Amino acid sequence: MSIIEEIKNELEKPRHSRPLGSGWLSGSGSILAGLAGLLIVMVRFFPQTFTMPELAMIHESGYVTVFLRVVLLLGYVFALISILLSRNKVLGWTGLLISLVASLLGSMPATAVGQETQALYFGLDYFIVNVLFIGFLFVPLERFLPYKKEQTVFRPEWQEDMFYYLVSSMLVQILSFLTMGPSILVNEIVDMSGVIATIVALPFWVQVVVIMVATDFVQYWVHRAFHTFPFLWRFHSIHHSTQSMDWLAGARMHFLEIAVLRGLTAVPIFTLGFKPEAIQVYLMIVYFYSSFIHSNLGVNFSLIERFLVTPRFHHWHHGSERAAIDINYATHFPLLDWLFGTHHLPKGAWPKKYGVAGGGVPKGYFKQMVHPFKKPEK
Ligand SMILES: [Zn+2]
Ligand SMILES: [Zn+2]
Repeated sequence: MSIIEEIKNELEKPRHSRPLGSGWLSGSGSILAGLAGLLIVMVRFFPQTFTMPELAMIHESGYVTVFLRVVLLLGYVFALISILLSRNKVLGWTGLLISLVASLLGSMPATAVGQETQALYFGLDYFIVNVLFIGFLFVPLERFLPYKKEQTVFRPEWQEDMFYYLVSSMLVQILSFLTMGPSILVNEIVDMSGVIATIVALPFWVQVVVIMVATDFVQYWVHRAFHTFPFLWRFHSIHHSTQSMDWLAGARMHFLEIAVLRGLTAVPIFTLGFKPEAIQVYLMIVYFYSSFIHSNLGVNFSLIERFLVTPRFHHWHHGSERAAIDINYATHFPLLDWLFGTHHLPKGAWPKKYGVAGGGVPKGYFKQMVHPFKKPEK
């Protein structure tokens, strides 16, 4: 068994065979901290390539160095605890090794390789911020208020979904660029000045709600089209191919689908004259919301689930049984599904299984990227 396989097996151990005190939590924590440290070091070596201009200020402030030290210190402490506690010491040693490499690289002077300005940058730091923020919020929530109690962070295919998360964070600039396309076009063709005057006069929070309703309306129909037309379904089936639902699962989406979906839902945002602050607040909400509705959270939301999309509502959308096919397209307001006849939320029940009924979607990121363009098998 290769070392990689051994680490993978250790990480994916079922919960009952790694009780608290077995060194599993500290071991995986040390690997995580070590990897986070490595990523931060990489960002510092290649600032032009890996950094979003919006985050450059933070890099220059010196906080990053302090943060890096804290992260690496955590890596060491966790690794030592894990080596002391566990019988199979592979997690602890791996965490220690990664933290050590990150420290060595991090202590070298960060003379920027690729200092020349590049038109394209990759948001590696954006990915780190993403995973830290969203992960540190949802991992404990899913641990203590789970729907599926046996499911762990390292459930089947977590690497694939993490890779999706990495890619779409890293290509954030290309995506934002593509996202603006349809809006620019609509602004060119249609004169919205009348609507804009009305929107501008609305109070701030009303604007935020109007953005949510307008984008969800567009999202509903684009999403429904992705289910209705076989060619589009070949793209969207990838999003549905996940068998385990959690905060990471929503990241699994074909790059072109993200571009189309975001581009079209962005049209009302950028053509109707909303305040930039209202748009910012909306983006913050969406940022958490898509992780929320996919998450493995078993909290009883029966009071609000008529009005707002909850994990149970969107889990039904991902169900593979007959009753779960082509339902619950909304991502904010179930009302849309009520109105257009696709609402399905049996009281208190959850779908039995997730995934694409009948299968057919290959495993792995690159196979899934080319999947929509391949001839469908008969
Ligand atoms: Zn869908
Ligand atoms: Zn989904």
